[in-house]
Amino acid sequence: MPTRFAEMRTNDGFDGRATPPWQMVPLNGTKTVKLMDGRGLTVTSSNPPIASVEEVPMCFADGHREFRIRGRRVGTTSILAKQGGTLRARLDIAVKRKKTVTVAFNFVSDTAGHRTSRGTNAVDGWVRTMNGIFTPQINVEITKKSVRTVRVNKNLGSVIRFSSHLPGVSAAHHEWDDVIALRDNSADFNFFLVWEYEQDATPGTDNADAGALGANCLFEDAAGAEVAETMAHETGHFLGESDYYNAADRPFLMYGYTDSRGRKIPKAHANTMNP
Ligand SMILES: [Zn+2]
Repeated sequence: MPTRFAEMRTNDGFDGRATPPWQMVPLNGTKTVKLMDGRGLTVTSSNPPIASVEEVPMCFADGHREFRIRGRRVGTTSILAKQGGTLRARLDIAVKRKKTVTVAFNFVSDTAGHRTSRGTNAVDGWVRTMNGIFTPQINVEITKKSVRTVRVNKNLGSVIRFSSHLPGVSAAHHEWDDVIALRDNSADFNFFLVWEYEQDATPGTDNADAGALGANCLFEDAAGAEVAETMAHETGHFLGESDYYNAADRPFLMYGYTDSRGRKIPKAHANTMNP
């Protein structure tokens, strides 16, 4: 195998598909990476005031070395592994400042007795799981701003629709605005937990699990099994990233299909979500 940098663990801010490979390092924090087949090489930072590097002392028996990279200033640089004057491997580094996203969780009901079946006691677990995805990979921290029960002052029916973009659908069916009017404006991003949500021309068929637009997301009760992972995906939309549907995108958090996606945030998505 050629000399190369590799991740210590999955979903820790390393992108091995990028060329050169890439590692997110938190400002005033550290990440450790492996250098495979790097015996005898000199490893340095191109810009130590941005990110410094030091070797983690360990036994070389299993064939790799480990290096701890410390983020000292927001910016980009590279870690170089050289043999004399010859570059053998390069790892690009982005040092990122912590970005905090405050989130409101709104549990929705209406005047006709429709209500979400979700309970407020789940919120802390959702936040924990979302932070387990975001913090190590892109240095974003989700903070619970509020947990609220909100009642829309009308009968929304069995399906809450976003339909203003659909030709021939009466304006009365577009209920999104009735719901988001109850948002917590002190939070960056609002989730609305609702019973059933649709955004296409066939509201009788459950095609959508959630919809995020701007700083709001309607999230239905039947939104799959990986609830917090799907919430992280929706938060990814809030942070500016799109859906990806190619088979090769399946490991990504932003893969478009619920419960089929992974939790990886590659370099390109990281730079959108926390530039
Ligand atoms: Zn999506």
